[in-house]
Amino acid sequence: MKFNFSQKQTSRREILRGSATLAGSAFLAQLFPATLLRASAAGYAQQGPSPAELLADMRAKFNAVPMETQKLADNVTMFDGPGGAVTVLNGPDGKFVVDSFVAPAWPRLKAALDGLGNAPLKYVINTHWHFDHTDNNAHLHATGATVLAHENTTKRMSEPHDLPVLYRGPDGALASLHFDPSPVEALPQQTFAASYQLQANGETLSLQHVPPAHTDSDIYVHFQEANVISLGDLFFNGMYPYIDPGTGGTIAGMIAVADKILSLADNDTKIVAGHGPLGTKADLTKSRDMLVTSRDRVQKLKSAGKSALDAVAEKPLADLDPVWGNGIINSEQWVQIVYLTV
Ligand SMILES: [Zn+2]
Repeated sequence: MKFNFSQKQTSRREILRGSATLAGSAFLAQLFPATLLRASAAGYAQQGPSPAELLADMRAKFNAVPMETQKLADNVTMFDGPGGAVTVLNGPDGKFVVDSFVAPAWPRLKAALDGLGNAPLKYVINTHWHFDHTDNNAHLHATGATVLAHENTTKRMSEPHDLPVLYRGPDGALASLHFDPSPVEALPQQTFAASYQLQANGETLSLQHVPPAHTDSDIYVHFQEANVISLGDLFFNGMYPYIDPGTGGTIAGMIAVADKILSLADNDTKIVAGHGPLGTKADLTKSRDMLVTSRDRVQKLKSAGKSALDAVAEKPLADLDPVWGNGIINSEQWVQIVYLTV
């Protein structure tokens, strides 16, 4: 995916550029003070696109990505595109689906699932609470599936949240994207605390919660017979990842998960990334090394007393940017995310 959410998108926003909001100064303060976030939200109501418009814009961007189908094993298929990757175990015992794309992609997801055959939809597993992984929960539940996730996915979906640096505000600074609580019908019907196992279609699905990494609700799903691991947003393949500091995300956690999965995988393991193409152990190793370098360099600047924007200005990852900075998160966003989560 070669698009970036922080790019300016509309002439309306261009016109609004320069109008003062507090989002940028909230970031300068390296804090998420509730008062400033509320003030900035109020400001947008008058001066810029509403949170709902921004979110619709983001969903539309994800939905513009074409969907590709890739068979990972006899009974495991990956659909990749409109909001990440969906992995499906299919067979006589039914369909078991990991993640769900963004809401506008529902007709395409339904057609893709129907195209696998007539087996009933049994389970939908959310790898974490973010909208691009849970957006079609209600549709899938209405089609007969039980939505299964870590207990923090329910908790986080039930609360309002602001995810920092996801778009460029009217003042030119990176700003937070606001999420209202999800409707009850979108919440998981079944949750677990540490791990969970499902057996079906000759396959064992091992679901494992990990310490806070991308969020505090992350799980990975290991298809043990097929040697496939769905990592959700614990892995962005070939691009800088997003880390959500407001719901527990830390770069140390992302590195720890990469190390754990590398110890679990072999050279034939197919690793499904939350965003980016299907990965291998070698791809995850490269991503892990990039995370370590990013953490070390940004930590050094933060420890020296630099602000987040000063750290960005120093271009500490200039050598990594051509390889990693062309995906969903660009270098400017990534340095700020690392700064917030070291
Ligand atoms: Zn995510």
